[in-house]
Amino acid sequence: MMMIVSHRIAPSLPVPDSVLRMFPDLDDVKECEDRSQHGGRLRSFKHERGHWATYVYIPFQPQEEFLDLLDEVISILKKHDIIMNKMNEFHISQSQTVVLRHHWINLFVQSLRDRLSSMHRFLCIAEQLHVYTNSEKTRTFLGLEISVGKEQLLDVVAEVDQSLKEFNLQTFYQDPSFHVSLAWCVGDTAWKIGGCLKELQTVLDGFENAERLTRFYAEEIRCKAGNKSFRVSLKQ
Ligand code: AMP
Repeated sequence: MMMIVSHRIAPSLPVPDSVLRMFPDLDDVKECEDRSQHGGRLRSFKHERGHWATYVYIPFQPQEEFLDLLDEVISILKKHDIIMNKMNEFHISQSQTVVLRHHWINLFVQSLRDRLSSMHRFLCIAEQLHVYTNSEKTRTFLGLEISVGKEQLLDVVAEVDQSLKEFNLQTFYQDPSFHVSLAWCVGDTAWKIGGCLKELQTVLDGFENAERLTRFYAEEIRCKAGNKSFRVSLKQ
């Protein structure tokens, strides 16, 4: 005689939000994959769970008219058949993108705080257009190079580099060209953009209030690790 045994499978209970929040690194894959959120920055390392893309930067909040200026720059590039994407946030990088293990993040941020929180805010002027490519030559950026504020930026980078070294991470460029990236495109198109830099610079220099729009104070240092963001305020 055949016996039929019925197994009732209990529906699995949803995992409570509080438990999911205990493991925030489970979410970071989505964050890293969305390239549009990173102003064209491309992750050049394979994602591994618990390894977070991390970088240190100084934010720049542009005034409304700065975005008008940027629109003009983009449209001039278009006339030369160069299609570039506007950055959706503006900053001065103080590190390359490095990979930090999740459990090191708080210690790394503490190291940055210890080194940077006694520094004072400083003036930056970003007025010279310059073309940059990433090290893999897969992205080209049009940026505004910093002319005033370089010494203080070098001081910040020296401290950030010390923190990076403590965690065995790659330090910043030996000869950094501090800048605010304005726009990016795929591939190495530096030669093409370079061909219209003079024209773009003339437009920028002649733009109403250009001097006011390209000067700002570095008031805080930020560190982004995966989807977490930390800030160190500089003294007044
Ligand atoms: P960022 O907007 O700060 O991410 O910079 C855009 C790109 O400029 C990055 O991919 C950097 O690798 C690249 N770059 C190339 N040369 C330099 C340099 N000397 N100093 C800083 N960034 C550079």
